[in-house]
Amino acid sequence: MARAALRPLLAQAIATTRDAWRGSVELDLVAVFDARGCGLGCFDAETWGEDEVCPFGSGGDCFGAYKVQRGFDGFVENAGIEVRRMQPSVAVWRWDATG
Ligand SMILES: [Zn+2]
Repeated sequence: MARAALRPLLAQAIATTRDAWRGSVELDLVAVFDARGCGLGCFDAETWGEDEVCPFGSGGDCFGAYKVQRGFDGFVENAGIEVRRMQPSVAVWRWDATG
């Protein structure tokens, strides 16, 4: 899906989640999408062991991200972020953009 079409969907996902948040700490939300075709199964890994979790090794930049926070509103891609170092992560919800 083209970034222009994806942007309003990701922005709405962040806004909906942020508006429903009732915690006392600031949420650090990011909407991620499959940028390189790994299917993002790497986000489901509970541990990053010997088994191949992501076809891109450590999950480095296998995802694109959209973030809205503190004046920033946009895509963050190729930031050198490894999914392996983001464990455990919590998926608030998922949406299959392929159909
Ligand atoms: Zn991956």
